[in-house]
Amino acid sequence: MRIDIITLFPEMCEAVLSESIIGRARKSGAVEIVCHQLREFAFDKHRRVDDAPYGGGMGMLMMAEPIALCFESICEELGKKPHFVYMSPKGRVITQQDVKAISQDYENVCILCGHYEGVDQRVLDTLIDEEISIGDYVLTGGELPAMVFADALCRMLPGVLSSDECFELESHYAGLLEYPQYTRPEVWREQAVPSVLMSGHHANIEKWRREQAIKETVHRRPDMLSGAPLTDKEKAFVQSLINEEKQGQEGT
Ligand code: SAM
Repeated sequence: MRIDIITLFPEMCEAVLSESIIGRARKSGAVEIVCHQLREFAFDKHRRVDDAPYGGGMGMLMMAEPIALCFESICEELGKKPHFVYMSPKGRVITQQDVKAISQDYENVCILCGHYEGVDQRVLDTLIDEEISIGDYVLTGGELPAMVFADALCRMLPGVLSSDECFELESHYAGLLEYPQYTRPEVWREQAVPSVLMSGHHANIEKWRREQAIKETVHRRPDMLSGAPLTDKEKAFVQSLINEEKQGQEGT
């Protein structure tokens, strides 16, 4: 996959996306990320890319033409139109399932980072394929959301993590939260690691982890359970946990 990021702060994106797992994935060629300075597509001598909104009001808006020119130059370089995403607090709040689908459906994704009060609506109406939010709060710019989205996308790509198992058992991938994890030492401040994890019995460890993942989800995110792929036996287990929690609440 190639990800193009249109931004007023390419150095900010580069700094984050050159480190750690994503940095290594870029070096190995598992993903290509190119950050574009929007000001290079400004057409006045001050390299302005924003102007005041029609109708008045606070702040400035990013103008349509520099964004269109930048996007068109990316399309020209790629020889095709990438899936064009605008990071926006008005967008659909992205989930792990969305990230997985986008990573599978598109070879090229272009991300527009907004700034100031946002972007001229005509860009959104004519060029953008979808608006994506990282949560119901407002940040000062689209760079942090773009990095969150790019990082989540990259993790889904072959060759970025050491194996698919790395994400398949993690929270949200298969409708549940992850089970608790422990590392050395075996006893830390009088708290021992659950004995099953020390048993070396893989089937029992797997069973325990699955049960713990269900428990975590029932306890912390019961809203996720309706979409979780559970067997009939696991559904009965969920019901018993819910009943236990109810009884616990009534008893307090
Ligand atoms: N005036 C806009 C509104 O009320 O919807 C908010 C603009 S915000 C200050 C500036 C930019 O930050 C946006 O154009 C967008 O790119 C980005 N942004 C802020 N919060 C975001 C969020 N929750 N998810 C994705 N992008 C966000």
